[in-house]
Amino acid sequence: MKNFDVVIVGGGVVGSASAYYLKKHGFAGSIAIIEQDTTWQSGCTARSAGGIRQQFSTPENIKLSLFGLNVVRNLKQEFGADADVGFKEQGYLILATESGLPILEENQIVQLAEGADNVILEGDELSARFPWLISEGLAGGCFGLSGEGWMDPYLMMSMFRKAAIASGVTLIDGTVAGVSRSGNRITGVTLASGETLGCGTLVNAAGAGAGALAAMAGINLPVGPRKRYVYVLDCPAATEALHKAPLTVQPNGVWFRPEGRTFICGLSPEEHEEPTVFDWEVDHGFFEDRVWPGLAERIPLFEAVKVISSWTGHYDYNAVDQNAIIGRHPDVTNLIFANGFSGHGFQQGPGTGNAVSELIMHDGYRTIDLTCFSYERLAANRPLFEKNII
Ligand SMILES: Cc1cc2nc3c(=O)[nH]c(=O)nc-3n(C[C@H](O)[C@H](O)[C@H](O)COP(=O)(O)OP(=O)(O)OC[C@H]3O[C@@H](n4cnc5c(N)ncnc54)[C@H](O)[C@@H]3O)c2cc1C
Repeated sequence: MKNFDVVIVGGGVVGSASAYYLKKHGFAGSIAIIEQDTTWQSGCTARSAGGIRQQFSTPENIKLSLFGLNVVRNLKQEFGADADVGFKEQGYLILATESGLPILEENQIVQLAEGADNVILEGDELSARFPWLISEGLAGGCFGLSGEGWMDPYLMMSMFRKAAIASGVTLIDGTVAGVSRSGNRITGVTLASGETLGCGTLVNAAGAGAGALAAMAGINLPVGPRKRYVYVLDCPAATEALHKAPLTVQPNGVWFRPEGRTFICGLSPEEHEEPTVFDWEVDHGFFEDRVWPGLAERIPLFEAVKVISSWTGHYDYNAVDQNAIIGRHPDVTNLIFANGFSGHGFQQGPGTGNAVSELIMHDGYRTIDLTCFSYERLAANRPLFEKNII
């Protein structure tokens, strides 16, 4: 039986960054990433919108996003002169009606205190800055002046993975089908092929499969898939100003952003609308009935659009409080969670990977204290709700 000091299940952005930072910080032990889909097409990372924002309500979420931003800003120093993730620093614009404005303002205080660079624009200021937007009925919007935007998530994830492999991490193409435990220690994993691997520490970075992986160790983790659709739009009437738009979130929840000469958009369904079958089909009725009307409500240029492509992704959804679960299991201490990001895990991948490396090497956080994301909060019924889930 092969043995690794650290086995990371899942080679998305979180698992790859965990392996990368372990090596970067000088971890001398052996590390394996086990990934069931080495085309990376079904994982959440490649299917994400690649957005990064500091517009959160939880300070630790802002810190994690800023860690990711710092990686983007220093990409070439970190990964070499050719490194590029196509960062489009066009900001986020989160809009609010009268009832939502106090929350936006409350959140902004937290964001500015953490070093975010954003501004609240009111009424006419909104339409002056974004002429494609009908601001009537809007009380304001929080706009990221710098540090927010989007990039190619596949490139970002691949950079971490390739750098980790180049520094000695082993990538194993396989599906973890079983986890073995001896009392309160994880001893190894069994692959679907029947092969078994021993491990010193097991990192759960299995994305939407995290709950299923934890269950293999007899542990309850409330993380599972939630289907989300992204629609790609051609909008012949789009102006240059619309092509330069920030990622905009309307009070009705519909979001859009430019993508090259097209646009992408989506909406998180309400609880009663959540699909229960986790396939890769796109619901085009959802676009017709919910997304399109919601999109065109304040942006008339979107009245004439054509859906030219679309995709489905499976969110790694934490059903308790839609926030990440990061840290050791309180009893099974050689099991580390890096799960449940609920739609904002791409930008948090680098910071989480760094945190996982610190837990393994120092048994505590050195860069960002992420204790608030611990598994214990779930057992203690202390949910940590993030107000800005998109
Ligand atoms: C449509 C959509 C839009 C999004 N937009 C954004 C955004 O704009 N900004 C943002 O920050 N986040 C966004 N997200 C969320 C983000 O993509 C995820 O939170 C993040 O990618 C999670 O990374 P991960 O590495 O944990 O998961 P993944 O990338 O899913 O990686 C987990 C990997 O584990 C593997 N795996 C699972 N189980 C097993 C097993 N038993 N054995 C072996 N391998 C296994 C999977 O194959 C997968 O590759 C979006 C998500 C979706 C679906």
